[in-house]
Amino acid sequence: MKEKLSKENLIALLSTKGEEKQRLFERAALVKKQHVGNKVYLRGLIELSNRCQKDCYYCGIRHSNHTLHRYMLSHDETMKTVMKAYEKGYGSVTIQSGEWNSPEFIARIDRIVRETKQATNGAVGITLSCGEQCKETYRRWFESGADRYLLRVETSSEALYRKLHPNNSFHTYLQRVKALEALGETGYQVGTGVMIGLPFQTIEQLADDLLFMQQIDIDMCGMGPYIEHPNTPLYAHRDKLLPLEERLHLSWKMVALLRILMNDINIAATTALEAIDGNAREKAIAVGANVVMPNITPSSYRPGYLLYENKPLPAANDNGEGELTSLERRLYDMDHVIAYFQQGNSARYEKRIQSMTSTRQ
Ligand code: SF4
Repeated sequence: MKEKLSKENLIALLSTKGEEKQRLFERAALVKKQHVGNKVYLRGLIELSNRCQKDCYYCGIRHSNHTLHRYMLSHDETMKTVMKAYEKGYGSVTIQSGEWNSPEFIARIDRIVRETKQATNGAVGITLSCGEQCKETYRRWFESGADRYLLRVETSSEALYRKLHPNNSFHTYLQRVKALEALGETGYQVGTGVMIGLPFQTIEQLADDLLFMQQIDIDMCGMGPYIEHPNTPLYAHRDKLLPLEERLHLSWKMVALLRILMNDINIAATTALEAIDGNAREKAIAVGANVVMPNITPSSYRPGYLLYENKPLPAANDNGEGELTSLERRLYDMDHVIAYFQQGNSARYEKRIQSMTSTRQ
């Protein structure tokens, strides 16, 4: 189901403060309770490789950042991480990587997808987040068993997109939107998302972002505050940024409004929230999110995947178990539960599949 809110309504709601903002959060919490309940689904995030052929101006692992040591998890390391997640009760994993289109990379992802499905008897859901690829690649990975694909549009404003990317045929807004369309046509549960609080970004553009997600009818969303990284061109514009606290509050409002607009999709409480405030993820869950993506990448690789400043890193020997226990406790205090061993497909997607099946009968 979709609720209609005009752009003017959204702009007004994104600008709310104090009691009015509180009322927005309460409304979103109620919509969430009625439509997706109090379960929180796990996506174990595996940062497969920080090699990227692109040069987005905001991203810490962009191709031109030569201060980075580039890595790629071996196939065995990846599968061990997947199996550990499966044993701990993760119903899904997310394989995320910088963008790479080589035949070796495509075959590597394909193998991970197939072996994950085989080794878990189909029990573990797979979300891919490996950037723009051609239709054939999307199809190949889908036919091998990938369930979902997350490709963030980052902003629905073409003018702002141009400010965030190099001006060449490799980084176009149109290409990004076409890739999202191709994912939907292939049959994936499609996710996108935006950065909130970018330099040059306006409240009007954020309202448009919400309407864009509603219009392309996404199944899931991962969005969070923009956090600057010193080794990126966009860092030069940090004087134009809102204070971190304001970016955080704006992010919560975006989550709440998206839940009201699209009440049955999956919305992730992203890690970028936590970089600003240790409890920000839980607050996002309270106002509409229903998915968390604990980072399960082997800890020695994680310093290589710093997309932005202050990204939370684990202690040297942390295997993520502590994080899950403490998350479980904090969610319990909010009357939420972790849905262990459940893939947690988007309810919107499930309804679509059901209606397609009943039309055929
Ligand atoms: S945002 Fe994605 S595509 Fe752009 S440089 Fe970073 S990893 Fe590469």
